[in-house]
Amino acid sequence: MSAVAESIPSLSQAANEFLKSPKQMLIDGKWVKAESGKTFDVIDPATTDVIGKAAEGDSPDVDKAVKAARKAFESGPWPNMSPADRGKLLHKVGDLILENLDILAELESLDNGKPITIARAADVPLAADMFHYMSGWCTKRHGYTIPLNVLYDPDAQYHVYTRKEPVGVVGQIIPWNFPLLMATWKLAPALTMGCTVVLKVAEETPLSAIKLGEILQEAGIPDGVVNIITGYGHTAGAHLANHGGIDKVAFTGSTEVGRKIVQASANDLKKVSLELGGKSPNIVLADADLDSAIAGAANAIFFNHGQCCAAGSRLFVQEKIYDKVIEGVAEHAKNIKLGPGLDPNTQMGPVVSKDQYQRVSEYLDIGDQEGARTLSAGTRPKDSQGYFIEPTILADAKPGMRVVEEEIFGPVVAAMPFKDLDDDLVRQANNSIYGLAAGIWTSDVSKAHKLASRLQSGSVWINCYNIFNSALPFGGYKQSGWGREMGEAVLDNYTEEKAVTIRLG
Ligand code: NAD
Repeated sequence: MSAVAESIPSLSQAANEFLKSPKQMLIDGKWVKAESGKTFDVIDPATTDVIGKAAEGDSPDVDKAVKAARKAFESGPWPNMSPADRGKLLHKVGDLILENLDILAELESLDNGKPITIARAADVPLAADMFHYMSGWCTKRHGYTIPLNVLYDPDAQYHVYTRKEPVGVVGQIIPWNFPLLMATWKLAPALTMGCTVVLKVAEETPLSAIKLGEILQEAGIPDGVVNIITGYGHTAGAHLANHGGIDKVAFTGSTEVGRKIVQASANDLKKVSLELGGKSPNIVLADADLDSAIAGAANAIFFNHGQCCAAGSRLFVQEKIYDKVIEGVAEHAKNIKLGPGLDPNTQMGPVVSKDQYQRVSEYLDIGDQEGARTLSAGTRPKDSQGYFIEPTILADAKPGMRVVEEEIFGPVVAAMPFKDLDDDLVRQANNSIYGLAAGIWTSDVSKAHKLASRLQSGSVWINCYNIFNSALPFGGYKQSGWGREMGEAVLDNYTEEKAVTIRLG
């Protein structure tokens, strides 16, 4: 355990103040230490300095949190609150997120490494928007009536209606790539439906979710409705996923851990929704507007340092324009300014952790050994201890290579030429265990729609990439997940539907 750095000069006074005290967990409306008294280090990936301490939650803490969430669900005001009042509170959370934009963006940038400009323009506003958007659904999730003709009771009249009810107490487990946004993608819909929650945040990035916990309290979300656990996956996370006291687990993270979540849920068959990995194809046709396609292909993989489940990490380019496109993407990569997230000039920060740095570096070696042509373009900041990886193009990659099949989750794209827009391209694009997103760049609208219908992925972006909106359902085919985040669709993850049948006398 290392000493915490003194105040950080590039950080506001408010953020430095926030970091001073060891971060605790929110359980039953109170900020508490871990039962064990243990803490873990919070690391700045741009410097590898320890910037804070967080409570190391484990099984006893999860037990307490689940108990609090159960109490709040069964006897508390939350599920019984009128939908309109619940909506108002959730809207207020969105407002308060925007009021706290500066500190949230700073904490996110510091903890995760992402550029402060992106945290300010995207992560925090999108997080607020998720609460604003979901707040409107509180009054609009109603059932319907069904005209019924009962075949074995033909003379009777029946009145049938359905009710959409909260699934109950939900365990939610989230990753580190968009720490605040992932927390809001999970919390907002669960709360909209009247569920109560135990949220286990990623050990790499606990800070913004803790600040969000303070905001939830300030908004007036009742005690026990949201409980926030900081701690490790194999301990606190595994205990939560296995917990008999929760009705559902919602997980975002790797496909490997997703499998463990499903196994953990098998005993009591609790409901499960999963948002997992991806290896998304981004397809550039010869008739595309090349400037936007090249900039779009670079953004598709380099946004958030490639630590984006939907990253366009397989770039398929039609033969005629292949060289031009990969050279163009390499040129974009060369111009990306790497640096600490908190520097307002930084366009790409470090990857999140030492583990992630080692993992991505290993894949760069694997690409080399497998015979891909490495166009490594960006430059690491000089003399930095931080976890910086240059944005890299692995050109002339071939089907079957590990760098083509496996999720790297870093700023590394495998590029391949294709000849015609025929079955082979579609087969190659779909040749993945994943099916999260896809991009198509073309000026031919008919080709775009035909191709979009044949790609096995939950999102298809045409002449754009990485377009996320609270109103758009997002999720995966195949091993990219079960269920959808955002849009009306996400509410199904937190809903039990009940049919009430009445025989009219
Ligand atoms: P991860 O699966 O290692 O960890 C995610 C979360 O699971 C963390 O909170 C971690 O502590 C917890 N965890 C780890 N082991 C656990 C266990 N045995 N039981 C319960 N919880 C456990 O993933 P990561 O490396 O943090 O995140 C990267 C992955 O997340 C990538 O594969 C990425 O594609 C995926 N992701 C998907 C989406 C999506 O919407 N589909 C969004 C973001 C990230």
